[in-house]
Amino acid sequence: MDLRKLIRDIPDYPKQGILFFDITPLLGDPEGFRRAVDALAERFAASGATKIVAAEARGFIFGAALAYKMGIGFVPVRKPGKLPYKTRSVSYDLEYGSDTLCMHEDALLRGEKVLVIDDLLATGGTLSGVVKLVEEFGAAIVGIGVVIELTFLNGKQQFSTYDCESILQIA
Ligand code: IMP
Repeated sequence: MDLRKLIRDIPDYPKQGILFFDITPLLGDPEGFRRAVDALAERFAASGATKIVAAEARGFIFGAALAYKMGIGFVPVRKPGKLPYKTRSVSYDLEYGSDTLCMHEDALLRGEKVLVIDDLLATGGTLSGVVKLVEEFGAAIVGIGVVIELTFLNGKQQFSTYDCESILQIA
């Protein structure tokens, strides 16, 4: 099954000149969605992860499904003001400006094995923010998994010291 056929290219979204890869056809296709989650589960079956950490909003979709499949916990990473309990936060640089991500302060234990998941790796800015936050807890990142990698942006380079895997590469 060619998962690429289930990704819709949207020119000029969310801004003029940006080509956006829309994953909703894949999500709506039961076989495609299952294959994407199963492929991530296979890649990280031996990781020993006890928690999946993923950022809103699209990271939740794959992260939660994968946590269920792997029989491990799920930890949401959210924008400021969205989590009800005490949080830890990290600010990270984006191409233009910066952003902040938060996690509940008791979400991870020191030394806990964590798998970081997202739908798509573009520049890697979002994932590097999540990685930074997870490491502030003293947790160990045993893998970084994404469904789609935009290889032409070379975002994966910054995760060369991690086991970073993608299911579908778009060149
Ligand atoms: P990065 O931070 O530049 O790597 O962008 C990746 C993040 O932005 C992920 O959390 C994605 O959900 C989102 N994103 C960026 N570009 C796209 C796209 O073309 N399709 C879907 N999500 C995208």
